[in-house]
Amino acid sequence: MPKDVRPAQPDITDRKTGQRCQHLFCYRAQLIGAAYLNDKLIPILCAKAGIPESDSRGALTSHRARATIATQLLNAKDPLSLADLQQWLGHKPPSSARYYAKILQRTLSAAYKKADYFARNVRTIQVLIDRKSILTGAAARGEQPWKYYDLGEGYCSYDYFAKCPHRLACPRCPFYVPKQSSRGQLLAVRDGIDQMLEQLDLTDDERDALEGDREALMALAERLADTPTPAGPTPKQLGTESAFIALTDLGRKPPHGPR
Ligand code: SF4
Repeated sequence: MPKDVRPAQPDITDRKTGQRCQHLFCYRAQLIGAAYLNDKLIPILCAKAGIPESDSRGALTSHRARATIATQLLNAKDPLSLADLQQWLGHKPPSSARYYAKILQRTLSAAYKKADYFARNVRTIQVLIDRKSILTGAAARGEQPWKYYDLGEGYCSYDYFAKCPHRLACPRCPFYVPKQSSRGQLLAVRDGIDQMLEQLDLTDDERDALEGDREALMALAERLADTPTPAGPTPKQLGTESAFIALTDLGRKPPHGPR
């Protein structure tokens, strides 16, 4: 046997469970002391693995694995009760188990915060789907749009409307279809047009502009005056930077929970 390999060790009684088992940090049939383990061995192992010796919860110690598992057991889909966790941890005073419940509380608060953000920034937009364009393959061949986002006075026929930086203040690039045009009027009466709602995630900047007045939208449009539209030209080049179509007719979507 190479001299660097630790010889086989006997089972030693686990002080928490009372059961005899193998221990990882064990030498000459003795458990390695906590001070040596935490102050010397774990820092050496961290250096070898190329990871920091501490994280946001403090130094990495021999206790950390149990703490991580305890937190996961409490945050699981079918979490352990505090009493069960206390037993699993082998803790006599319930205060230790309650420490992990506090972590759970923090996790829940973060989830609620996220849900609140979701409720504030998510809207829905009405979309027309042209079934004929899909079924005839015209959409796949790029000959005809198949999706029309309702902007109020007209439609945006760009498939990736959600990615358009001008979506709240549309400068009417070539993807724009006015409702008053013959194409727009046909869409309203033609067979094979389905309606659906699509979710739109707003940035904070967009939400502020949407909840503000026309001036807030003007300011947003001004900031984007030199940003190209998906069709290519910028609002300035189109000459429509201050004659944009304001997207105001958006629905609010109740959150189903944090995502
Ligand atoms: S700029 Fe073009 S792609 Fe963007 S919302 Fe307006 S029509 Fe659609």
